[in-house]
Amino acid sequence: MTKPVRVRFAPSPTGSLHLGGARTALYNYAFARHHGGKFILRVEDTDQERSSLSSQLEQIKDLQWLGLTWDEGPDVGGSYGPYRQSERLDRYRAVAEQLMANGLAFACFLTDDEIEALREQHGHQWQSPYRDLPVEAAKERIANGEDYTVRFKVQDRQRVFTYQDLVRGEIKLPVDVLGDFVLLRSGGMPVYNFCCVLDDYWMEITHVFRGEEHLPNTLKQLILYDALGWQAPDFGHLSVIVNETRKKLSKRDGAVSCDLFRDMGYLPEALLNGIALLGWSHPEAKDIFTLEDMVKHFNGQRLGASSALFDREKIKWTNSQHIKSLTHDQLWEKLQPFAGHYNLPTDPSWPSKMLGAYQTELNVLSEIGPILEPFDQDRFSIDADSLALIKSWPNTKALLSAWRACLEQSDHYLSADLFSQFLLDAKANIGVKGKELFMPLRVVLIGRTQGAEMKELIDLLPISQMLQRTDLVLKEL
Ligand code: GLU
Repeated sequence: MTKPVRVRFAPSPTGSLHLGGARTALYNYAFARHHGGKFILRVEDTDQERSSLSSQLEQIKDLQWLGLTWDEGPDVGGSYGPYRQSERLDRYRAVAEQLMANGLAFACFLTDDEIEALREQHGHQWQSPYRDLPVEAAKERIANGEDYTVRFKVQDRQRVFTYQDLVRGEIKLPVDVLGDFVLLRSGGMPVYNFCCVLDDYWMEITHVFRGEEHLPNTLKQLILYDALGWQAPDFGHLSVIVNETRKKLSKRDGAVSCDLFRDMGYLPEALLNGIALLGWSHPEAKDIFTLEDMVKHFNGQRLGASSALFDREKIKWTNSQHIKSLTHDQLWEKLQPFAGHYNLPTDPSWPSKMLGAYQTELNVLSEIGPILEPFDQDRFSIDADSLALIKSWPNTKALLSAWRACLEQSDHYLSADLFSQFLLDAKANIGVKGKELFMPLRVVLIGRTQGAEMKELIDLLPISQMLQRTDLVLKEL
């Protein structure tokens, strides 16, 4: 019987959640959900200098925002906990002791300078003189308070580890690139490769999807599984995400962390859709899909090994497509963080009318600001260049006076019929047409000559405000 699928996302809390990390989380999540398995969040915080609680909380917040819910983790618990490695130190140390007692690991008393000198002389295969120190002698030095690290004794350097990678097929990892590697740092803190193996085994992790940069770690981890007599999980090493110059995507390329995309007004479902395609393709060749749809199809296949280009324009387009699929009510709610501080018309149907005109123009939610600004009575201002332009036309004053008279015939909003009639009359009676007709009208509505179609704008400003604005412009003529 095959074991139930258990996968984990194991971030080190050393900064914000990057898109690459989010993609790893997404793939593991989708794989777990596809197979009806468990998705576990494990915090790998044994690097005390680089880890922080604030990073941990931010990463958790970002994962929650993305909607990648986990079944076990530091906040929700579970029967394989604790899920923070800093709370499991005794367990790792006990295994290190056991490996030392069995002669598979040793206490190394070299100083950094001594190691450097050995490395210079012998290259990466340098060996510690303490490798074969009898366990009793090592214990005595430890009891005397000497500083030491615990190193794993790499035994058979001719060996090649071969495994089937879920993404890359057969991988061969020759041991001869390695020296005896550290398990516990001086002071007793365990290192990532050690904790990772122990926890993946103890937490019964069946599959590990992680970035390609972890391949060298996989060798050390396979050696440890082998030494402990444990079966390793199946590994899949994901393609590296690159920028336009095919270099690994980094902070220098602009926003690369989830929180920045949230602040720019990306929808979590759109960001997930965008990063899903960085190394995976939908079996129906879809560019736009929901997380649910992805889960339905994400069986661990269709993952590409070649580097994945991060295309900002494409991810923006993906976001615009997800925005288009929302109802006006849903979209208006999501726009609140970006729209909340505008003093807008209070008519309950106003947001829906406004979105009828502008929804398709939005790529990211933050673009709503400049759209709303002209409708905010407190922020209305007349653009100087626009004013100068309409002032230079002979019929503007007559046009706007007629416009004012037309507005006075209505209350609340100007109807489409009345507006059409006004245009016909203006053409016939004042002899004005084209931009000399439409631009002055746009200025009295939104303060500038360029903007949305007039027939949309008249629905978005109550008559009372249009009158006020028309008077302000007339005063300037
Ligand atoms: N803590 C490691 C990282 O953040 C996890 C790697 C792994 O998934 O094994 O890169």
